[in-house]
Amino acid sequence: MICCKECIDLLYDYIEGLLDQETSKSLEEHFEECPPCIAFLNTYKSTTTLCRDTLNQIEIPDEVRHTLQSFLKENKDQQEKK
Ligand SMILES: [Zn+2]
Repeated sequence: MICCKECIDLLYDYIEGLLDQETSKSLEEHFEECPPCIAFLNTYKSTTTLCRDTLNQIEIPDEVRHTLQSFLKENKDQQEKK
C-alpha cells in the first residue's frame, strides 16, 4: 500500500495517464481509503485543467502545496488520535 506522500508524488502522472496499470491501481486503492487524498485529487484536477500549460513548466503552485500540506497534516492528526 502506498502512502499519502507517494500518492501526491504520483498524482500528476496519474491524471495525465502516464502511470502503469499496477501503479494506477495502487493509487486508486489508496484513494478509496483516504478522503484527504481524494479531496486533493479534485483540487489538483481542477487546478490542472485551469493551468495545464503552466503546470508543465513550473513546480506545484504554493496555493496547492499549502492545501496539500494541510490535508496531510489533518490526516496525520486523525490517525494519531486513533
Ligand atoms: Zn492519502
